[in-house]
Order: sequence, then structure tokens, then C-alpha cells
Amino acid sequence: MKSILSIAVLISSANAFFTQPSAVAPSTAKAGETRRHPTHLNASKNRRKVASRTTWSEARGYGTATSAAAVSESDPSPSAADVVGVGGRKAAPRLIIAGAPASGKGTQCESIKAKYGVVHLSTGDMLRAAVSAGTDVGMRAKEYMDSGRLVPDEVIIGVVKERLNSPDCAESGWLLDGFPRTLEQANALAEAGVSADCFIFLNVPDEILVERVVGRRTDPVTGKIYHMTFSPPDDEEILKRLEQRSDDTEEKVKVRLGQFHANVEAVRGSYTDIAVEVDGTQRPEEVSAMIMKTIDAALT
Ligand code: ADP
Repeated sequence: MKSILSIAVLISSANAFFTQPSAVAPSTAKAGETRRHPTHLNASKNRRKVASRTTWSEARGYGTATSAAAVSESDPSPSAADVVGVGGRKAAPRLIIAGAPASGKGTQCESIKAKYGVVHLSTGDMLRAAVSAGTDVGMRAKEYMDSGRLVPDEVIIGVVKERLNSPDCAESGWLLDGFPRTLEQANALAEAGVSADCFIFLNVPDEILVERVVGRRTDPVTGKIYHMTFSPPDDEEILKRLEQRSDDTEEKVKVRLGQFHANVEAVRGSYTDIAVEVDGTQRPEEVSAMIMKTIDAALT
């Protein structure tokens, strides 16, 4: 049963560790934790959710720049113990979200974290933190990140496995964002006995992605993401302090997209039994609604 052998994932802050529970879910669940696998999702192809297209600006997912942050602020992250899923299930969800650069993973992760109380593990954020801190991993990753290439598997796999071993991930569950990004990374998770409840693939066409990336800016104070064309801030002060990621240029996003396309099918192929595709061109709120339904179904 492939779902039993499937995935798991992670991201967010920097350190911490945690030993993967065995992929053979129920028998390896930690005390007090109910692990279930979405056997009802096995026919993943039949369950793919592709919403109808909407208008041009909505289709770019820039309905509101602050939607995800607003969710976080008004609905502080519950602990996993407080989260009661559909059918009254309490558990620590194990989720993976995948998608091309600027497909909206970061925005959706904020909403998912707020609703399910999971630990958000973004490998991009983890690596950027490592580069800023000048750690060994950061020094090894920097040149790859600067050029838009993937960091070598042997560098990132160890970081992720270590992070997944941390007590907060065991207790609250996790949301892997940006990992696994290659077949080797997916295999490493499986070999470590890491399995997931759900693999969400955010699908957005390349031409929209390039447009999103080049105009994307982050507020270093609040972490909110804006777009210079689709969702600029109203406040002059915020506008002045916005920062652009050094790899958010047209030249580098083309390299990043090339890497993404070279690997994505192999990664998706590792999770067919728990995979659900979501149309990432919809407004963030609509994408969120589709994702929540998917997760609720997977956790029931
Ligand atoms: P994006 O998904 O928009 O490219 P991320 O913030 O997820 O941005 O990642 C930024 C960079 O970090 C990537 O271009 C790559 O160099 C590196 N990186 C992140 N996750 C991984 C990973 N799983 N494997 C290899 N490199 C990674």
C-alpha cells in the first residue's frame, strides 16, 4: 500500500530534531497520537481539484496582499491538541505542499498553520536563515541559492531530517514547504520512515509565475508579501521599506523554474496515493478553501 510508504515533510525555523516515526503509520504513532492514512485519497487523479478560471487579476492570486496574514492575526495558531478535525479527529497532521516558485505556497502555509497549528517547515526560509547566520550549511548553500539552483541533496536532506526530529513537530505535526524537491529527497524521507497525510500540489502556469516573482516584495517588519502591480501597500512607509529577494529576478526565476520542471514529476510520482492538485491561479482565499477541504478530507 503505497500510502503507507509515502511522505512527510517540513520547514521553518532553523534547528531542532526529531526521529521519524515509521512510515507504517498506525503501529508507529506516538502515544496519544492517532495516525490515519487517507485511503479515500488513493485515487488521487480522480480527486484532483481544478477550479474554474476567474478574471485576470484574480487569476494571479493577488486578490488581497494581506489575506493570509489577516488569517494568522485574527486566528492565532492553535496547538495541535486544540485542533479538532472533521469527524472529531484529533491528531498531529503531516502535510506536504509543493509548487513552483511564487505559486503561493508561502501565503497558503500561513493559513494552514493558523488553522491546523502545525509547524511550518520552509526549506527556503531555513536555508536563508542558515546563510544569514553563516553556518556551515549556509556557506555550502549560498552559491546555489544565489544562482537560483537547487542546493545539493546531501546538504538539505540532513537539515530537514534533523528538524523533523524536533519535539514540536512530533507534538503539533508539520507542514513541509519546499521539500522534497527532488526524487532523492523524496526517497530520503521514505527511507527515514517519514510519511504524510496529504501532498498538495499548487498548479500555476509559468507565465503567471514569472510575473508574480518579478513584482514580489516582502515587508521585513511584518513579513507580509506584496506585489508591486497587483497588491502594492497603501502605506508609503511600508512601500519604502519593502525588500526584494535577491533570487526574484527574471533571469534567476527562469533557472528556478527549469529546476522545478526537471524534478516535479518525479516528486509527484512519489506521492500519487496522497496527492491532490489545486488550481493556484485562483484568489488566495479560494485556494485556501480548496486546500482546507483537501486537508480535512485527508485527516478524517
Ligand atoms: P522558491 O520555491 O520560490 O524557489 P524557496 O524559498 O522555497 O523559493 O527556495 C529558495 C532557494 O532555496 C531555492 O532556489 C534553492 O536554491 C534552495 N532550496 C530550497 N528548498 C530546497 C530543496 N528542497 N532542495 C534544494 N534546494 C532548496
